[in-house]
Amino acid sequence: MASLSTLPTELLCLIISNLDPIALIALSQTSQSFRSFIKPERHHFVQRLLALELQPEHGGIVPLMRTVDNNLTPPMESDEWRRNKYACAGCMKLLTHLMFDNHSILRLGLRKPPPGSEQADKLTDWEPVDDKVAAIQRAHTREATKRERLQPWRRRFIRALRQYARGQGGQMGIGPDAFTRTGEEVRRRQLADIAEAEMYLCGISRHKRMCNECRMQRGDWARHTSSNVGSATVPIVRSRALPFQDEFARWFPNLLDDQVPPLAENERPRPFRVWNFDKRGIVAPTYVMRCRGCAAWQEIAAFRVRRDWFSGGRSMVWEGNLVRCLCSHCFAKKHGQAKLAEALLNCVLTEAGNELRRIQYRLGHGWRIVISDFDAEVGRLRSWQAARNEILGGHRLLLMSPMRGDTLANERDRKELQRRLYRLRRLLMDEVDQRARNEVLQSWYRLWMEDYDLNQASFFRMLDIIAKIKENPQLLVDYALHPDRFRFETASWLS
Ligand SMILES: [Zn+2]
Ligand SMILES: [Zn+2]
Repeated sequence: MASLSTLPTELLCLIISNLDPIALIALSQTSQSFRSFIKPERHHFVQRLLALELQPEHGGIVPLMRTVDNNLTPPMESDEWRRNKYACAGCMKLLTHLMFDNHSILRLGLRKPPPGSEQADKLTDWEPVDDKVAAIQRAHTREATKRERLQPWRRRFIRALRQYARGQGGQMGIGPDAFTRTGEEVRRRQLADIAEAEMYLCGISRHKRMCNECRMQRGDWARHTSSNVGSATVPIVRSRALPFQDEFARWFPNLLDDQVPPLAENERPRPFRVWNFDKRGIVAPTYVMRCRGCAAWQEIAAFRVRRDWFSGGRSMVWEGNLVRCLCSHCFAKKHGQAKLAEALLNCVLTEAGNELRRIQYRLGHGWRIVISDFDAEVGRLRSWQAARNEILGGHRLLLMSPMRGDTLANERDRKELQRRLYRLRRLLMDEVDQRARNEVLQSWYRLWMEDYDLNQASFFRMLDIIAKIKENPQLLVDYALHPDRFRFETASWLS
């Protein structure tokens, strides 16, 4: 049987130009003669990398995004995203999605194209290199043809998107399930048009995608942008959202997990949200920051930054703060471990204090309502005064507003309040009439009652953490200097 290398050149060229980008490079690496015949160029290697990022074993998932409302499947906080990788056309590597800003992986032209789309099934654009100048000309022509071919799809896409937005009341981002002025049939057609155009346009600019570090070298982070909330010397790039058990765990992920077990999903109190009312734990955006000392990109939890720099938006992050920030390894190298322990302890106590205040608010929330339910003129439990004394009966904690955390830490008080809460629960469940029950057990009040025990358990869990750390601050140093703690590839909370 004739081997590939004995085929006539014309036939060989035809076979090679029908390979996919991965097979092209593989063939070029089989022998010296194929290498010099194919002469793969940089853009062939980029195309190979872009094909690899679509393979589950190399690139992980291909998330699907619906442009009309930016709905992402699977959502960013899901486990499937953890091993999701993207190609960087700068350093020519497949890197975790955390090394790219959200635009670089979610914008239509930069997304991973879904199966069945033009980009996902792309063959190599290899052509025999006879004459360098002719090859460059051919590349230009190819680009121009591609632009021309995609132009109608672009126009169609934009037109359908505008029409759809107008039908939705002129607002984008409210989703196909929202109120609509257009007929169902028209709306379905517009959505189909958008989806069809997306199959041609999705991923067409991926060869320009670059990771945070390559963009740093190119000067993209020289100023604040919607992606860079840091500064030119210390960029901080907003990244995907991740689930955490509470705010404290967001800043100190996995801290003391071996001594104080993390809360399972059903042990997490609901944080009194306006939306996602019944969801437990929190979902918070992550930010990756470049250490000035070691140039490594790490999640900001590695930098002991102040939480309020972020809650106030980017205006709170200023150069003066950032230039002092070093990752824990660089900080220890420069200032010593004792200073690191001191800085970490400071941060932990601040964040733990904030967490205790949040839990305390949730514990106290309902008691204030119970008092007015019994005592106000139009109180919803006014007709059940017989139970009032057993429930409120002048306990000193219930006279305080808000309740204080240190008094709740007292074992006797804690038991007493819990006893009174159970009595209130019995009153509401077994003694009052259905109407009063439905009226009272609503909104955050219901959450307060249902999650009271969980909040109380979280409160004491937090105190336990604080006590253990105060007793041995070295625990914090070991935690922060653990080599895998904040590495994208190995940290269990990131990857
Ligand atoms: Zn790169
Ligand atoms: Zn560093």
